[in-house]
Amino acid sequence: MNQQLKILVTGSSGMVGGALVRVLKKHSCVVLTPTHSQLDLRDQGAVNRYFDEQRPDYVYHLAAIVGGIHANNTYPAKFIYDNTMMHSNVIQAAYAHGVKKLLFPGSACTYPKLAAQPMHESSFLDGKVEPTNIAYAAAKINGIVMCQAYRREHGFNAIVPMPTNAYGVGDNFNPNASHVIPALMKRFHEAKLNNSAEEVLWGSGTPLREFIYVDDLADAFIFLMEHYNSENIINVGTMQEISIAMLAQEIAQVVGYKGKLSLDTSKPDGAPRKCLDSAALFAMGWQPKVSLQDGLQRMYQHHFSEAAVAVA
Ligand code: GDP
Repeated sequence: MNQQLKILVTGSSGMVGGALVRVLKKHSCVVLTPTHSQLDLRDQGAVNRYFDEQRPDYVYHLAAIVGGIHANNTYPAKFIYDNTMMHSNVIQAAYAHGVKKLLFPGSACTYPKLAAQPMHESSFLDGKVEPTNIAYAAAKINGIVMCQAYRREHGFNAIVPMPTNAYGVGDNFNPNASHVIPALMKRFHEAKLNNSAEEVLWGSGTPLREFIYVDDLADAFIFLMEHYNSENIINVGTMQEISIAMLAQEIAQVVGYKGKLSLDTSKPDGAPRKCLDSAALFAMGWQPKVSLQDGLQRMYQHHFSEAAVAVA
């Protein structure tokens, strides 16, 4: 990307936005990263004024209210209102200000709960989504269809990657909200320090999941920004699945936790399998670069090494 280009990244304080900004800053372009206090994306007037003043060439709209099952159930109005307002304002302003291209990530949770696995792009809107995150999914679906509609009616180049579960530096370690990788990494780390003999995993350990390291996801977003121009959504995954029990062993090894791992089958498993069919992206020549073990090591080193803990 050349020197004069201005790239707006909303949500740059999040895990994916942070990784994207780190990569973009290595290119010689101007990266705009307004914080929430500098720009409330729910405020249409403020968003329009920002675009008037800054005139970005490219937009990655990554800002979103996200959370686990508990947050989705507790704040469904916030999830649907904030997310719909933010992407509506950004997509409309980007189009109206002549932005060359916009990337808006969808979410695997917009696919039907009972979609065939691995989930292909064609299963989008082909069945009912998981009801516990309907408000979040409905907002995402609105944003996806908006991107498609602005392309059809106005020729606006808006693209929608559908990322699989991301993990890595900048992840959410809050035990009330975290997904499986940060949850287990934190618990195993504390268990190692406390010499705990046993740690408990939720569920049966058999569910299969796919994970992408956050730098690979950022890399895929940049690749798609440079090479993909279609109204069709496109999956971004690794095509590598792992059971939760195997994942727990990998994390224990990286952390150096040597105690026993047991299962609490009274806790929910969630979906038995959640994996994306990323054949279309791979056929374009993109491949993930960071193995699960390497990604876990980088994440552990960043957040739990002695130097990281001393700074925190
Ligand atoms: P999901 O992919 O939407 O189901 O989200 P999660 O990352 O929260 O959970 C993935 C799988 O890991 C589920 O089968 C959980 O039951 C399992 N799991 C095992 N231990 C834990 C844990 O300590 N925290 C979380 N979040 N999930 C766990």
